[in-house]
Amino acid sequence: MKRVGVLALQGDFEAHRKAIERAGGAAVEVRTAAGLDSIDGLVIPGGESTTMLKLLDLENLFEPLREFGLRKPVFGTCAGAILMARAVTHPEQRSLELMDLVVERNGYGRQLDSHVARIAGPGLDDFEAVFIRAPIIRSVGPSVRVLATYRDAPVLVEAGRRMAATFHPELTGDLRIHRLFLEML
Ligand code: GLN
Repeated sequence: MKRVGVLALQGDFEAHRKAIERAGGAAVEVRTAAGLDSIDGLVIPGGESTTMLKLLDLENLFEPLREFGLRKPVFGTCAGAILMARAVTHPEQRSLELMDLVVERNGYGRQLDSHVARIAGPGLDDFEAVFIRAPIIRSVGPSVRVLATYRDAPVLVEAGRRMAATFHPELTGDLRIHRLFLEML
């Protein structure tokens, strides 16, 4: 069984752990650099990306995480997608630069702060996406394949063995997106 780490510093890691297990993986909470040694891939959950950055620094985990992402599959959701990006705006902040994405934080503004949408994409038909203070992917590089879009912006993307979603796939009980990631491992 594949061992999937979930970065468990802050945010929605518990729901990811359950989703991974229900999708057929062995989920492992990761809080230290040593924790990265024994896993086949890593999920970076939603939460607050600025807080996660601070905690990554505190745990000396930023560089080890980046190095892990260069070697092994990583899936970032919401705040995790922000951390995966090459560049972050509104405001600008540091990121792991693991995917060629430009991501705008809190892109939907107050009116659509949290919302649920039904989405169908070339990579996945008809699923429910839960957006919570979600970022918007403003541009993708040539290496990136768009699996689903919403309101003309990519919301689920893949590049090599890396994936990012601007919504929360762990909250719907639909395991297809976690299975996609497990297939990458
Ligand atoms: N707004 C958060 C951020 O900027 C992300 C929200 C989420 O992960 N649900 O980091």
